[in-house]
Amino acid sequence: MADEVFRHDGYLSEFESEVTAVDGDKVVMNLTAFYPGGGGQVCDTGTINGKRVTEVRYEGKEIVHIVPGNDFRPGMRVWCSLDWDRRFDLMMGHTGEHLLFCSLHREDPDLAITKIYISPEDKYVIVNHDVSWEKIRSALAFANKAIRDNLTVRKTVMARNDPDLAKVRIKLDRIPEDEEITVVSIGDIDYSACSGVHVQETSELGMLFVDRKVSAGRDGVAIHFKVGDAAADAAISLAATCLEVIDETGSKPELVVKTVANMKHNLEAAAEASKEAAKKGVGSLEPETVGGTAFYSGVFPGADRKVLAEAVEKLKAEGAVCAFIAVGETANIMLGSGSPKVDCRKVLPKVLGMFGGRGGGKPDFAQGGIPDASKAAEALEALKKEVAGLLEN
Ligand SMILES: [Zn+2]
Repeated sequence: MADEVFRHDGYLSEFESEVTAVDGDKVVMNLTAFYPGGGGQVCDTGTINGKRVTEVRYEGKEIVHIVPGNDFRPGMRVWCSLDWDRRFDLMMGHTGEHLLFCSLHREDPDLAITKIYISPEDKYVIVNHDVSWEKIRSALAFANKAIRDNLTVRKTVMARNDPDLAKVRIKLDRIPEDEEITVVSIGDIDYSACSGVHVQETSELGMLFVDRKVSAGRDGVAIHFKVGDAAADAAISLAATCLEVIDETGSKPELVVKTVANMKHNLEAAAEASKEAAKKGVGSLEPETVGGTAFYSGVFPGADRKVLAEAVEKLKAEGAVCAFIAVGETANIMLGSGSPKVDCRKVLPKVLGMFGGRGGGKPDFAQGGIPDASKAAEALEALKKEVAGLLEN
């Protein structure tokens, strides 16, 4: 088996090695510092004798380097170089994940990790249930204090029956019986079984920041985080956005969450009131009689389309014709006809076209929208004229 340098030295990025086997693009060496990926962390990339290493992975117990177009032969001495910026970012990310989770776990002892993902583009930990932003805020304060305190990150090997294993975050069933247990500790605040690559001191992380949390379905909630300069950049950018929101709402930082919650509540109440008003408005409409047919029409700001559609359904069953417009950000027009003289499928698209809108339907019911809601009344007049022309004949 090759000497897997990354297991005891995460900082070796340039090294000499010897090729032991080649099979097309696949290259095996007797010593390697290329991390083959694992524990949610993606693999290293780099070069061997100047040729790109596009992927590194375990095949059985062997670490296989994918080097397209290589001309290596067994026994050849080669010079290897890791893409160090990428590797260091992954080391920071992996250490950041340990630190973030232990900090969140202090706030919520029922929290458990479902999954981890560490790549240069994205870093997240999926936990079994949601965590409030208030708890994330406290966890981040703790984690960033640990970064400033420059705690030592240590790797130790423990036996399966070591009583100290009790304080270690570990999924023993996932570690093969014959494999030794590597435990990564951060100062005395966290002990976790892990065979990945990590930094040596927490200060190397610079900063840890959570910039997003999203549902991960049945797995729980994905908490996305950043480390180092990327964390600082994200924090600055998000802080500026928050300040803009605070300004826009005329609130204060300490009150803005409450302000927005109130606004949301008021908006919902207003929408509910408009819906009720529209329902009443439709219910109390008086029809005109055109060519012997009852003709209902009206514009309803903030109306629920379902309410209007139900009214149309009822009135056309009584033989009436109705033209209703629900006005929101756009204007939604519906035309229902209980009269053989009015084919909705023909009349409505004609009027919609006059106002840059589109729509369609069946002979007894059609609907569509126009982009400029301020033209609703005008559109209704045009529609009424068309319908009246048909009913009068
Ligand atoms: Zn780790």
